[in-house]
Amino acid sequence: MAKDWLEGIEEEYDVVVIGSGLGGLTGANTLAKMGHRVLLLEHHYQLGGLATWFKRPGRHIFDISLHGFPHGMIKSCRKYWGKNISERIVQLKRVRFINPQFDVETTFDREDFTKIFVEKFKVPREQVEGFFEHLRQMNYYDRDERTAKELFEEFFPGRNDVHRLLMEPISYANGSTWDDPAITYGIVFSNFMSKGVFIYQGGTDQLIAQMTEELEKNGVTLRKNCLVEKVHVENGHVTGVTIAPRTGETRTVRCKAVLSNSNIKNTIFELAGKENFTPEFIAEANAVRVNTSSCQVYIGIKRGESIPDIGDLVFTSEAEEFSSEELTSFNTSSRTFSVYYPETRPHLDEDRYAIVASLNAQWADWKALNDQDYEAAKKRLCEEALTGLEKFIPDIREKVDHLEAATPRTVKHYVRHFGGTSFGTKFEGLKVSMELPEQLPGLYHAGSVGIIMSGWLGTINYGVIVASKVDSFLRS
Ligand SMILES: Cc1cc2nc3c(=O)[nH]c(=O)nc-3n(C[C@H](O)[C@H](O)[C@H](O)COP(=O)(O)OP(=O)(O)OC[C@H]3O[C@@H](n4cnc5c(N)ncnc54)[C@H](O)[C@@H]3O)c2cc1C
Repeated sequence: MAKDWLEGIEEEYDVVVIGSGLGGLTGANTLAKMGHRVLLLEHHYQLGGLATWFKRPGRHIFDISLHGFPHGMIKSCRKYWGKNISERIVQLKRVRFINPQFDVETTFDREDFTKIFVEKFKVPREQVEGFFEHLRQMNYYDRDERTAKELFEEFFPGRNDVHRLLMEPISYANGSTWDDPAITYGIVFSNFMSKGVFIYQGGTDQLIAQMTEELEKNGVTLRKNCLVEKVHVENGHVTGVTIAPRTGETRTVRCKAVLSNSNIKNTIFELAGKENFTPEFIAEANAVRVNTSSCQVYIGIKRGESIPDIGDLVFTSEAEEFSSEELTSFNTSSRTFSVYYPETRPHLDEDRYAIVASLNAQWADWKALNDQDYEAAKKRLCEEALTGLEKFIPDIREKVDHLEAATPRTVKHYVRHFGGTSFGTKFEGLKVSMELPEQLPGLYHAGSVGIIMSGWLGTINYGVIVASKVDSFLRS
């Protein structure tokens, strides 16, 4: 008989968490530590959402979103997940940018960036200091309508090279463009500039294993392969969810609150249903723009082979000038190589290397392709990634024995996000996410939204913020 993925669950919980991205996992853990009975449901066969990994024959292991996050992750992980996790966060020391405008290597912090702008780009020091000082004083609650591009123009007029170094890495980090609000740019960029770029040593598989252990210790009931189809509402309150396991019977579970880690649009339009919200709120939710998506090329290095140290994160581009349009275009020549040396997984019994090429992408360009064009486009991505790498490692083709591409369609398939978004929504999504429980008591959302609550750090922090709101609701 087929496995029942829901075996052993109760008929009722205080909270059901839909989705096991970092926002969902952290929300569930926080609520369990606060004493609530929590059921966490994930439709995929693995926990972690976009913080995930996959294995391929030849003992290859690839991380999907372990490219870099700010130093703040150490504090957040220590506070909300414990020292076992925070102690394994390490800095990436060699961040490189190579494009027709400049070739720089940096530790990606304020001091080093200031040095580069002053010494290499010949920008007066006061101008650079003034920019950083302005960022420091930016306040989320100031109604500053400027875009990031306008901010760059104000401080560094006509300096596309400076704009490029400021914007390009943040576009890869959270899908934002220079047309997004300066405040969202300022918050995320400043987070990175405080101390540089960090990753989790051990790999995403070990991080999620540690988190799972912690969740189980704190009493969260976890179920994978379980798709939540519907959030139930009675008399204007959340009362439960319908769950369709991959195999086994569809079931309803009662609960007082739901914390959805699904995209905010999926949460409103698919899970709850628009009939449960006011027309004004639905209009606002409809107007929320989802963020851009990504393509990636996973490059596996043969067992026994090694590659030279070419840097940890290498931002490359052939584009003469920077523009957000070029960066997200179907034929972009801009890609970042994340290089995973044996130090990424020091616990393995052999030295292994992997490289992941990341590109920004638009859902609309990829969704329309027929099967043949889709396969051809993926092949092109793989080929271009290898050609790009040959500039650093001329014999790379001889060292590779696994190559595959992922696209916005892959993101959509695995995490179901509206528009295949990798990074939630644009700024306006945050207000809608935060106002959800005012519209429908008992329904909460935590996950990539509004640019600032995105990425590993943003979603972990947002998971905690929303969990404390759920806690107040449950106690009221
Ligand atoms: C290619 C790529 C590279 C990235 N690189 C970085 C990086 O280097 N640094 C960084 O900080 N961030 C990076 N990010 C972004 C980061 O991974 C995400 O912002 C973050 O992991 C998202 O967490 P989340 O809580 O929003 O949930 P998600 O990870 O989006 O997970 C949501 C979960 O909900 C589940 N779900 C959805 N609907 C249902 C349902 N109805 N029933 C059950 N389960 C459901 C999904 O399956 C999924 O597991 C990257 C993202 C991508 C795609």
